[in-house]
Amino acid sequence: MVVGWHRPTKLVIDTQAIKENVYNEVKRMPQGTELFAVVKANGYGHGAVQTAKAAIEGGATGFCVAILDEAIELREAGITEPILILSVVDVSYIDLLLQYDLSVTVATQEWLEQAIERLNHIETQSPLKIHIKVDTGMGRIGFTTPETVKQAVKLTQATKTLIWEGLFTHFSTADEKDTRYFEKQSDRFQAVLSALFELPKYVHVSNSATALWHPDNPGNMIRFGIAMYGLNPSGHELSEVYPLKPALSLVSKLIHVKELSPGEGIGYGNTYTTTESEWIGTIPIGYADGWLRHLQGFSVLVNGKKCEIVGRICMDQCMIRLSEKVAVGTQVTMIGHDHGENITMQMVADKLETIHYEVACTFSERMPREYK
Ligand SMILES: *Cc1c(COP(=O)(O)O)cnc(C)c1O
Repeated sequence: MVVGWHRPTKLVIDTQAIKENVYNEVKRMPQGTELFAVVKANGYGHGAVQTAKAAIEGGATGFCVAILDEAIELREAGITEPILILSVVDVSYIDLLLQYDLSVTVATQEWLEQAIERLNHIETQSPLKIHIKVDTGMGRIGFTTPETVKQAVKLTQATKTLIWEGLFTHFSTADEKDTRYFEKQSDRFQAVLSALFELPKYVHVSNSATALWHPDNPGNMIRFGIAMYGLNPSGHELSEVYPLKPALSLVSKLIHVKELSPGEGIGYGNTYTTTESEWIGTIPIGYADGWLRHLQGFSVLVNGKKCEIVGRICMDQCMIRLSEKVAVGTQVTMIGHDHGENITMQMVADKLETIHYEVACTFSERMPREYK
């Protein structure tokens, strides 16, 4: 997709905020604990490579991604720190894992057997680094019992083609007040640890929520995602342990301003009709940018004043009701600070009845990302 460099709509990413969020977490981690920055899905929409570089400055010593291509992107950009792919990679891509020196998640005995079979046929100097995933109750991927984990470890240690680099699990309710299910998962992981005679270099259980609200959990590495971008992992449920700094703003400029008489219709389907003489402004952002139609009725900021989105949001444009005549070219803030007012990603998520994670990932490639 082309990037709209010649349009005033843009995401502004504050890399200093990312660096500070990482630094604040690194500061409070126990000695010997490492922070791997999670930059999957283009750094939650913030830009994977730029986020990774800011995270290193803040003290991150490795990275997690979801898929192989995301790991390759980081390597191609010159990132040399360890990179763990959190999801399953088909064994047919093992040569790429080796070529780019990537660590991969192992979730089944079958994968391990197929991988060893393949590795025996590859002329390779370096072994493949694996992290064994334990499913303690997320129900997504991973070994579910101490016995199956032990078997996987045994198989791994019986071959020179593999290095057992990590053991990990993932919590599904670390961001909730009720900790009962969290404790159940925690106990299951503990049972796996107890069943093993030795541990790999990295043992890791913490996403952002676990790191923030359950800091005494086992492990010597954390997988720090959403909080690095300055967003509270729990939404409204739990309060921030230390102030997180949101890194993303979304701004545009008015491209058209007009005064309409009472009784005039706005947008497709004519869902809004002016009730009095109204100033209507048009902004060049629409659902193709990830500014979704369900945001009709949400308010954005112009000169620090809240202006409601009126009429349906189009693919590339939407209309807002201004409180007064405003010049074409005036900045519009859709996420971020403007004259003491603030619109958060959480507010957008609330309007969309979803979570800020999804909002951040939905911003399309068409919007340029500007880094400061
Ligand atoms: C995405 C992901 C994370 C990061 O989660 P946050 O809530 O963004 O911190 C950590 N671990 C795994 C396995 C993930 O998939």
